[in-house]
Amino acid sequence: MIQAIRGTKDLLPEVIRQWQFIENVFRTVSDKYGYNELRTPIFEKTEVFSRGIGEGTDVVNKEMYTFKDKSDNSITLRPEMTAALVRAVLQDSLHTKQSTNRLWYFGPFFRYERPQKGRQRQFHQFGAECISPLYPESDVEVIMLADDVVKTAGIKDYKLLLNTLGTVETRKRYKTALTEYLHSIKDTLSQDSQNRLDHNPLRVLDSKAPEDKEAVKNAPVILDYLDAESAEHFEKVKELLAVTDINVEISPMLVRGLDYYCHTVFEFQSSALGAQDAFGGGGRYNGLFQLLGSKKEVPAVGFAMGVERLLLILEASDEFKLESDAPDIFVAATDVDYIKQAQITANKLRAKGLKVIVDLHRRSIKAQMREANKINSRFSIVIGANEIETNKINIKNMAKSEQSEYPLDTIENFDFK
Ligand code: AMP
Repeated sequence: MIQAIRGTKDLLPEVIRQWQFIENVFRTVSDKYGYNELRTPIFEKTEVFSRGIGEGTDVVNKEMYTFKDKSDNSITLRPEMTAALVRAVLQDSLHTKQSTNRLWYFGPFFRYERPQKGRQRQFHQFGAECISPLYPESDVEVIMLADDVVKTAGIKDYKLLLNTLGTVETRKRYKTALTEYLHSIKDTLSQDSQNRLDHNPLRVLDSKAPEDKEAVKNAPVILDYLDAESAEHFEKVKELLAVTDINVEISPMLVRGLDYYCHTVFEFQSSALGAQDAFGGGGRYNGLFQLLGSKKEVPAVGFAMGVERLLLILEASDEFKLESDAPDIFVAATDVDYIKQAQITANKLRAKGLKVIVDLHRRSIKAQMREANKINSRFSIVIGANEIETNKINIKNMAKSEQSEYPLDTIENFDFK
């Protein structure tokens, strides 16, 4: 039998309602903050990501699904949204048509990673991006939106870590100090980190290898290297967050995996997830538009959340508030001759907005009633010669085992409560 590709999952009807629940949270919360949905193609020219995310990051170097199409163009299945979204905003000049662009998205993303719990090769992200002036209130707005989504979904036990990567100058000074320190303890680092040390020292702080985690405990922290602009921005973000109900934990080693961030960075973590404990994160990216061809700097800030990981947390905490998917009415026909009447009746009820199932198996009434029970139908009706002749039908409330007699030709007026 042909199996799905490793690291991908089918979303079967039994879980799709959980997805619809969370998608509804994304939509309603984004809407409250005035964010509009945007959809882009799932593949892009490779350079969107190699330029946008940066050569030298794990995503670009190791994880992209890149292939040549039949015209020899290099194409990549999107590994994240921000670069693709910036490409779309630039292409359609959204940033010049409106002074603020508040955008959200939801969809599949692709990374060639080793699959494990909470890590897939096709996974889904929800995210939002605010393309607006450099002021810290935009950073706080997207953090509030992200936190609202988490709380509205019903997740209570989580941490929100916050840090700043400051301005380009701040990062340059910090990188020099960090590289110097890392060189002094180079032998204690993992091989991966030793390789990264010179071209991407911040990545070492991100490493999950136990020896690296230990080694960076005494590393210099960026908060000691902030220039005035960086410090002021960070202070304002903290000040504005302090008057919300959001608890943040300052985490001086938080750097996030991608190259384009500056100033504010943040990450959501949950202990329910095991090794892959981050379920969302984001930050400010003032330089990305220029990397993708804009002549001017266009400041922006945003975040992405892993939908599979959100659902894992909700599953572990039993916090899904799912509506029942049971039908309102199950319509049985006593014989093939009455299927037409069953269908007419069902359609009258559907026109009233009720969810109606008509049996498709041409089976006995007993078997049909067994099915109605199995799928938890709230009511059932049986249509046969007698019902049609007398224009009377028994409407059975399945849970109460009560029957009400009603005229068949006006059944749509019955109160199915
Ligand atoms: P990133 O774009 O790497 O910042 O990821 C943002 C969020 O997407 C993470 O916090 C995860 O929740 C989720 N995510 C990233 N990569 C994967 C993956 N391979 N499988 C499942 N979720 C992922």
